[in-house]
Amino acid sequence: MNEEPKKKLQSEKPKRNKKKKTPSNKEFARVTYLFVIIFLAMMGYLVYFNAVKSKDIINSSYNVRLDSMADRVVRGQILDSAGNVLAKTEVGEDGSEKRVYPYGSLYSHVVGYDTHGKAGLESQENFSLLTSHAFFMERILKEVREEKNIGDNVITTLNTSLQEAAYNALGDYKGAVIVMEASTGKILSMVSKPDFNPNKVAANWEKISNSENSVLLNRATQGAYAPGSVFKLVTALSYMRENADYANYNYNCEGEITYEETTIHCAKGNVHGEIGLKESLAHSCNASFCNIGLTLNIPKYRDTAKDLLFDAKLPSVLPYTKSKFQLTENAKSYEIMMTAMGQGETQVSPYHMALMTCAIANGGILMEPYLVDEIVNYTGTSVEKNMPQKYATLMSSEEASQLKEYMQAVTEYGTASSLSGNGYTVAGKTGTAEYSSDKEKVHSWFVGFTNVDNPELVISVVIESADSSGMKAVSVAKKVFNAYY
Ligand SMILES: [Zn+2]
Repeated sequence: MNEEPKKKLQSEKPKRNKKKKTPSNKEFARVTYLFVIIFLAMMGYLVYFNAVKSKDIINSSYNVRLDSMADRVVRGQILDSAGNVLAKTEVGEDGSEKRVYPYGSLYSHVVGYDTHGKAGLESQENFSLLTSHAFFMERILKEVREEKNIGDNVITTLNTSLQEAAYNALGDYKGAVIVMEASTGKILSMVSKPDFNPNKVAANWEKISNSENSVLLNRATQGAYAPGSVFKLVTALSYMRENADYANYNYNCEGEITYEETTIHCAKGNVHGEIGLKESLAHSCNASFCNIGLTLNIPKYRDTAKDLLFDAKLPSVLPYTKSKFQLTENAKSYEIMMTAMGQGETQVSPYHMALMTCAIANGGILMEPYLVDEIVNYTGTSVEKNMPQKYATLMSSEEASQLKEYMQAVTEYGTASSLSGNGYTVAGKTGTAEYSSDKEKVHSWFVGFTNVDNPELVISVVIESADSSGMKAVSVAKKVFNAYY
């Protein structure tokens, strides 16, 4: 920063020389002092602004300071990873400004909106969008002329073709899809439905803010769903931790299990016969997992869940709902059985399940998830670049590779076998979660990752009120993968 003004001062000399009048040394010194004073004042102001006015305060949607920033800076753009514009401000000849979202509802929740409060990246990146890192002299000149400076642009990690694939695959269903990159933590796609058109938020505010479908809720991060059989990954891990000889686990599934007056059936009337832990997961055998659950030490079960970020803060740039694991030591046997197979009181967000799957794909290590790749000034000069970094180790690499092997069985011969033979490999876990007495309607889940030997895409899909086959989420994941590969 110190270099820039010096260069600029030097570049002023030839300009002045062009003028007929030759300035005296005194005059020249005066001009130089003036620049030095302006420079120091600007520097002081910038340091004060960055140090004292923290981003968090300024990012708050209702902070009055925003208005004064917006009075001096034209809000910057939000871009996808390829440079496509997701949000921009159009300035009319009369100086009026209009925020425009060229992709309409495709990015409604993740990019958000900038009226009636703010949401999504429009809220989280408000500070950057209203801060100008345009060239120093340009900024000073505009300040002096009382013209608006141009705010910085936010380049996201979002991939528009993946976003479109996920958006179209979800169709008219309510639910969410998240796609991440396992090795970096980049969020490539985030879709939540029902959606809204961010270009018409002001006009439709009454309708969308009072919608009984909670249109404004970002189901990807804020949804709270029963995890269904996806939770069997947690149960399996807890069993592995308590039983070094878990590879010898054996259970004879007769299609149902009865314990203390509670009977649980396997899905679709299946009878799985003699199975180990791997087949129990591959076929999502309810009886076997109820059996496993009843053997678990509940505090240790809870510790495993905690290690996987249940009841914990999540690394997230967007508002989210914490996942809940409610089993206590006094739990009744039916509560334990229900919990072990992902029913009961347990609740998760699709985002949390994506993070857990990322860790399994990435040898137990969860990379810090991120949505903003880089902040650049309006001419494209870099201001700040985010690099992938480790967030936490959720499980050992041995545990991760064991779960990975089990999840591969799910797609090879288990409940998600429709994902095999498509020219790419997938490891995953399906889930169907009952949420009402109507057994014909379930929430359909799928979590998984592609290119199993060197994981690439991690996906988490939930579809509300899907048919009882539970396969809807698998077909959505398949469409996204097919679009990518
Ligand atoms: Zn079974």
